[in-house]
Amino acid sequence: MTYLSDLYIDGTWRPASSGDTLGVADPATGEVLARFAIATEEDCLDAVSSATRAFPAWRAMAPRQRAEILRRTFETLTAEQDRLIELIVAENGKAHADAAAEASYATEFFRWFAEEAVRVAGDFRRSPGGDKDLVVTHEPVGVALLITPWNFPAAMATRKLAPALAAGCTAVLKPAAETPLTAAYIVDVLRRAGLPPGVANLVLPHPAGPAVARMLAHPAVRALSFTGSTEVGRILLREASSSVTTCSMELGGNAPFVVLPGADVDRAVDGAMVAKMRNGGAACTAANRFYVHASLAAEFTNGLTRAMSDLRTGAGSDRRNHHGALVSAEERDKVARLVDEAVAAGAVAHFRAVAPDSGAFYPPTVLTGVQHGSTLTRTEIFGPVAPIITFDEVDEAVSMANDTEHGLIAYVYGPLEDALGVARQLDSGMVAVNRGVASDPAAPFGGVKQSGIGREGGFDGIHEFLETKYIALDAL
Ligand code: NAD
Repeated sequence: MTYLSDLYIDGTWRPASSGDTLGVADPATGEVLARFAIATEEDCLDAVSSATRAFPAWRAMAPRQRAEILRRTFETLTAEQDRLIELIVAENGKAHADAAAEASYATEFFRWFAEEAVRVAGDFRRSPGGDKDLVVTHEPVGVALLITPWNFPAAMATRKLAPALAAGCTAVLKPAAETPLTAAYIVDVLRRAGLPPGVANLVLPHPAGPAVARMLAHPAVRALSFTGSTEVGRILLREASSSVTTCSMELGGNAPFVVLPGADVDRAVDGAMVAKMRNGGAACTAANRFYVHASLAAEFTNGLTRAMSDLRTGAGSDRRNHHGALVSAEERDKVARLVDEAVAAGAVAHFRAVAPDSGAFYPPTVLTGVQHGSTLTRTEIFGPVAPIITFDEVDEAVSMANDTEHGLIAYVYGPLEDALGVARQLDSGMVAVNRGVASDPAAPFGGVKQSGIGREGGFDGIHEFLETKYIALDAL
């Protein structure tokens, strides 16, 4: 397979001005797939200048014309879905089925926002005093800096690029150093769909360097859309404060999965498998803590164990594998450390599957006897580990579920009326009721508390890239 591995600036693929590169490896084998250009600060500022120059014409382009470019991007990605899946598997390591689900979710953002590009509405009304007419419009904020993580290399890029471009913003995309190849491919599909030079640029500076701060301080950069850890989110919020740049933050999660008395256990197990194992557990939406009513705990634990033991772990390139590699040996070791510490503190490894010895694989694991409040229940595990905690009273489950600094998503299984009652009490941007997955390009994705600020997708997503303008007129 050949890979695009240069920077994309002003409509041209080019190496870094320093000539520096960084290896991108297949986590299943450790094999270096490509060497990606590492942008200098000057390369990054060049990308911002190119987006700045392209902005006036792009914002002035008819929304329908912008929409058509996004629609063609959707069509090309649909036609080349296998290529997109292959890229995700190669650099992220996830199972083929997970990559296929991501590819289709990612592609859909271009269709959704092609449709939204022509529906940005304002309003016009008489002032209460009758002396003025109030005209309210929504305009693109300017250049948007888009920063994405490695766990969904395609979807996190498209969930930002599509609404930013639909809104009339120009963009600089900075993918994660572990997974830039998918992002480069997507940007090239936009180019092939007719996106004018400079409208979307791609840079990969050294993550620890000052390039992101320099871009954020640039006066033309008016929006930052970040997906990643809460820790890095806090740093970027501080950096963005110097230029008072609009921030949209999709940060970490610590999702509770609550099984209420009277729940259909088979259905809850099916949902748990999706909520926990989608993306090998490396998802901000992954169920991180299972609170199961004592009357159902044994049945649920056994059901989950049976389902986990049916999974085959191995390279995503082999379609027979259901569970792939984590993105790196460091991520695998982080998960292993968390589990070892929990077991040392009294948790029981009720089930641990087998996984290949070489490569960044961690086996699906079920832990029982976990204490609410332990490190494991306070940390985003980001791996295939299901800690089970039992409860007797529903109020107790609600209070444990809410006892976290995060609030991205929660899962509730139970009789509909009871589950809805609990859903209303959960401090969470999203709640999936009797379902193991909630994400949909047409729905607002985002969290409360330290899980973030703003929403992506749905009707709200485009507004992260729009500014409200009010024009006052004498009453007509
Ligand atoms: P991360 O925060 O380490 O990195 C995310 C991005 O920020 C990467 O592009 C990285 O290179 C960059 N980055 C890191 N340090 C930086 C710095 N000091 N300045 C500027 N940029 C910097 O996150 P990750 O490990 O790549 O991804 C996992 C995290 O992402 C998890 O916490 C997960 O919950 C979160 N996530 C959230 C969502 C959501 O929508 N809420 C979705 C996916 C992932």
